[in-house]
Amino acid sequence: MSLPKINVDGLKSFIPEDKILHLLQCKTTDRKQVEDIIAKSLDKQRLNPDEMAVLLNAEDPELVERIKEGARELKRKIYGNRIVLFAPLYVGNDCINDCTYCGFRRSNLELVRKTLAFDELEKEARSLEARGHKRLIMVYGEHPRYDAAFIAETVRKVYAVKEGKGEIRRVNINAAPLDVEGFKTVKAAGIGTYQIFQETYHRETYRSVHPSGLKADYLWRLFAFDRAMEAGIDDVGMGALIGLYHHKFEAMAMLYHTIHLEEKFGVGPHTISFPRIEPALNTDYASHPPFAPSDEEFMKMIAVIRLAVPYTGMILTAREPVALRNEAISYGISQIDAGSDIGVGAYAGEDETASGKKSQFVLNDNRSLDEVIGELCDADFLPSFCTGCYRLGRTGEHFMEFAVPGFVKRFCTPNAILTLMEYLLDYASQETMEKGLAAIRRELHRMPADNPMKNHLSQKLDKIVEGQRDLFF
Ligand code: SAM
Ligand code: SF4
Repeated sequence: MSLPKINVDGLKSFIPEDKILHLLQCKTTDRKQVEDIIAKSLDKQRLNPDEMAVLLNAEDPELVERIKEGARELKRKIYGNRIVLFAPLYVGNDCINDCTYCGFRRSNLELVRKTLAFDELEKEARSLEARGHKRLIMVYGEHPRYDAAFIAETVRKVYAVKEGKGEIRRVNINAAPLDVEGFKTVKAAGIGTYQIFQETYHRETYRSVHPSGLKADYLWRLFAFDRAMEAGIDDVGMGALIGLYHHKFEAMAMLYHTIHLEEKFGVGPHTISFPRIEPALNTDYASHPPFAPSDEEFMKMIAVIRLAVPYTGMILTAREPVALRNEAISYGISQIDAGSDIGVGAYAGEDETASGKKSQFVLNDNRSLDEVIGELCDADFLPSFCTGCYRLGRTGEHFMEFAVPGFVKRFCTPNAILTLMEYLLDYASQETMEKGLAAIRRELHRMPADNPMKNHLSQKLDKIVEGQRDLFF
């Protein structure tokens, strides 16, 4: 058990706060300017900060509608209708930090502290598998007991659990920043994405909401992806906790963070997340975040980020209510969690009250995985548990979808269909089975008859019906 040795000597922030504030002064009513920026994005080019600022500041309702339409078009044209599904698995809620907004903060004496023992962790993994999950994000507080060796061990334990026909095929992690050695240790355990949110990129605000603990060091966190990438982790998941500071500032800062990674490592973030602050047990701050955007502003921010970083995956979690999640999907969200429970030990049968006392915050979408899959299929989306790229060593899967012409049609859609079929046969309710089969028929119908892939896919689907699993292209 050890904490990483923080060393921020020689590091300098790459977030130009003054410049961002200056860019955010600009106002545009120029339709042509907005159209040109959208066209650049639809041409698959990442936007520059001044262009993003123009979109963020466009307020004329007609322009805002154009921006949303642009985001919808980009999502449709490049990514199609797939939605990747995952679930969070909270491993432990001990924490040495005191983040003012978080139910896990050290000074929260009402929270019931819990770290899963390995047999409890396996039970959680079993019950997630028994519901049909294949992709998880494992989440940890920041504490000496959750060091890199512990995280690696918990990831290995989860990969090893096989319940019936179930298995977890990709584990991502959301854990406090490690040093390079620590990142090598967790990479060796086979993690997919390393996700961490800067919370706020605004330094003064960062200082005020992170009064103590390792997390008080802004630069140590800001350079976490640099260390992860130095350790060979190519897939990193970025985010800002929306509500701490102005959402437009955070959106601009995430673009600067993206540019920093592109310039230094040749690759931007695998995903961008937009967690909004939710109420949390005994946490006043979380009930009154100082910069909470309206739903409308939040949605527009999502559309603008879709256009600004067209190659990245975008995640929206069950923090948000159903209707908002459904709308956001059309603006470019590509991954959502489903059937989530964030109490430590919750999946294996803790009752709701006990679970709530161990939770970091409150969720607003409580649908089961089965319900989410049924509803997505009904709305002409294609739920996917695909892990093909990761399994074949094609890291940066989302970038491939974006950059390689025909990749989505050749790999992503067929793999989504195969994993949906597995789900339907092994876990679906009768109602979801019917909706899912209708979705698969619809997708097959959309493939041209002379597409050789259609034949290969049909053969693989037959094998799945016969009982084979884990088939992908
Ligand atoms: N403890 C690690 C850390 O802080 O880096 C792991 C992350 S923490 C368990 C997961 C994320 O939850 C945090 O990064 C933060 O953005 C988010 N979070 C914390 N409090 C929240 C709240 N009240 N509402 C919504 N999200 C919250
Ligand atoms: Fe701890 Fe993370 Fe919560 Fe901060 S956000 S108190 S570091 S769990």
